[in-house]
Amino acid sequence: MRARVLSGRKIADEIIAEVAAEVADLREIHGFSPRLDVIRVGEDPASEVYVGNKVKMAAEVGIESRLHHLPAETTTDELLALVTELSNNDIVDGILVQLPLPDQIDERAVLEAVAADKDVDGFHPLNVGRLNLGHKALVPCTPAGVIEILKRSNIEIAGKHAVIVGRSNIVGKPMAALLLRENATVTICHSRTADLAAITRSAEILVAAIGRPAYIKAEHIGEGSTVIDVGINPFVDLNAVASTFPDEDVEKRLAAIEKRGSTLIGDVNQRDAMAKAANFTPVPGGVGLLTVAMLMKNTVDAAKTRRLNG
Ligand code: NDP
Repeated sequence: MRARVLSGRKIADEIIAEVAAEVADLREIHGFSPRLDVIRVGEDPASEVYVGNKVKMAAEVGIESRLHHLPAETTTDELLALVTELSNNDIVDGILVQLPLPDQIDERAVLEAVAADKDVDGFHPLNVGRLNLGHKALVPCTPAGVIEILKRSNIEIAGKHAVIVGRSNIVGKPMAALLLRENATVTICHSRTADLAAITRSAEILVAAIGRPAYIKAEHIGEGSTVIDVGINPFVDLNAVASTFPDEDVEKRLAAIEKRGSTLIGDVNQRDAMAKAANFTPVPGGVGLLTVAMLMKNTVDAAKTRRLNG
């Protein structure tokens, strides 16, 4: 079997175009543009890139954004004061606190201080609870993006056995809730799961959200399954390139490692997935692109619900 590659670019572009059209309507018909406030604390280089992408994308779709960059030594109280001010500010529709936060900050207190109806990351306990109750909620962007990939690629979810590897609050758990909402039969695996490969092999839809480069290999992948690779990891091993990437990618990947010291890979061995799965999301160019698109969608949804009652 040779897997169909599910392009995140094409699907993200579709969603971005839909969101831009909605923003234009809000401006023309209702006279306002949604506003997203993004908070970054400290100098984490990955966070700087992620936040930059979010602010840039907001400008592209016509969402107004403000970036609040606070020093690394910011206290919990100082951050809480900003989050509370934005939560109470009527012109702010979405608030995003970029994680991870520096160690001295009480992350839980900060996430709980975000007004639930402006919580565009979907991390507030009210939204987590609503999602799990099957009620309308702001839903975490990455798993919401996975659902969009599946639906817009015409991959049936209802009745299928979906296996998620990873149980984090930002990916694994909300992914399980969303797949359940779509009527999949869901299994969640984690680091204490016994005989992981036997379970993942039985998946018709396998979502890998582990944070370990190319951890999911041929033995974990069911013939003809759909494999969604959420992971984003650096891959540095020149000697393992030929056994990890499909033939047509090997040269490009070797060149990237030689030039920059690493190339990007997810949690799945791409060569094995291409050989065994029916559908596979690439890294880069897969789920990652959906995360930012879904943040834009959440911001517009939050604005509509709060300002127009839906
Ligand atoms: P976490 O580290 O929070 O969670 C990892 C999960 O994987 C844990 O539940 C852990 O189990 C499980 N795990 C670790 N090792 C194993 C193993 N050997 N076998 C089975 N399960 C294992 O990671 P995140 O959920 O935050 O992220 C996962 C990946 O997704 C990362 O690569 C991250 O970079 C990427 N990511 C990508 C995004 C995107 O936009 N595409 C957005 C967010 C994350 P346990 O709970 O038992 O420790």
